[in-house]
Amino acid sequence: MSSGEFCPRCGDPVPDREEPLPGAPRDREEALCDACYFEDFELVDAPDRIEVAVCATCGAIKRGNRWVDVGADDYTDVAVDEVVEALGVHVRAREVSWGVEPEQVDQNTVRMHCHFSGVVRGTHQEETVVVPVLISRGTCTRCGRIAGGYYASVVQVRGDGRTPTPEEASRAVEIAEEYIAEREATGDRNAFVSGVEETDDGPDIKISTNQMGQGVSNRIVRELGGSVESYPTLVTEDGDGNEVYRVTYAVRLPQFSSGDVVDPDDGDGPVLVRSVQGNLKGTRLASGDDYERKPGDADARKLGSRDDGVETTVVAVEDAHAVQVLDPETYESKTIPRPDYFDPDAETVPVFKSRAGLHILPSDADDAGTS
Ligand SMILES: [Zn+2]
Ligand SMILES: [Zn+2]
Repeated sequence: MSSGEFCPRCGDPVPDREEPLPGAPRDREEALCDACYFEDFELVDAPDRIEVAVCATCGAIKRGNRWVDVGADDYTDVAVDEVVEALGVHVRAREVSWGVEPEQVDQNTVRMHCHFSGVVRGTHQEETVVVPVLISRGTCTRCGRIAGGYYASVVQVRGDGRTPTPEEASRAVEIAEEYIAEREATGDRNAFVSGVEETDDGPDIKISTNQMGQGVSNRIVRELGGSVESYPTLVTEDGDGNEVYRVTYAVRLPQFSSGDVVDPDDGDGPVLVRSVQGNLKGTRLASGDDYERKPGDADARKLGSRDDGVETTVVAVEDAHAVQVLDPETYESKTIPRPDYFDPDAETVPVFKSRAGLHILPSDADDAGTS
């Protein structure tokens, strides 16, 4: 049976075959007889070799122009993926099946044995190709920037009229690291802390982007109180003449911190500070009443902290407003105000002595959870 057509290469008559769809050109290859067709037929189209760039520091791999985290500690799987991605199977092949076997040659070379089979022109075809995969170790953009100390913003943690406590300073750095870790966990490769400098006035935390510097500052203020202001500084111009800014976020922690005893100078006596997030909140030592002030309210002076309190003996409970205790320095009996957190059954109480007088401190338990 013949269609009356002939192979354009060898001139043999070609058996009947499905006509291409109307309007579709019958390509020259399709017109060949089977013998000529299979003469230079390749079932699989494979590159001679594949190079995979891997960051030696973080393990990211380069895909096109981008570095991506693959979370691999063994690059054989990465090599398999890259090869499978790069292989092409002939479009006319049907019932294709394939397998890939990696052969580790050395630390940086994997030979990939790829077996393919399929049906073409009704004939079973098989092909095996070997593709060497070369792993090249380098440095990704991110690790290069970290190594070079790159940063786009600095979060300066300072105190208002004081130096941050060691606890505040280390917590601020922790908050920055937590914030960045959350961003990293979402796959953001631009998130990193490129350095922390402990200055005499508090830590300077260098952050990869402006936006993250802002985020870190906001979170520090939300937790530790205070306020933040930002100051852009022109650093340089980039290659295209665009101005490149670095932003300093000046975090000012509040004047007082939780546990301070302060005197607001309003005639009602000292206050034990419970919280400084937003408004300052505390407890009046004379009465046990709540106290609250806005940032920027009239000056208050710090008298000391609750750690300065000492335990002393209760001599007598006089009435609803007064109690007698031993002055811990002179051992004289003194009548002092009775706050509502005072426990009349207590034999001893913590007291705080200052130029404002002698006052009973709440116990830690009274204090807990009241902010
Ligand atoms: Zn032919
Ligand atoms: Zn890296």
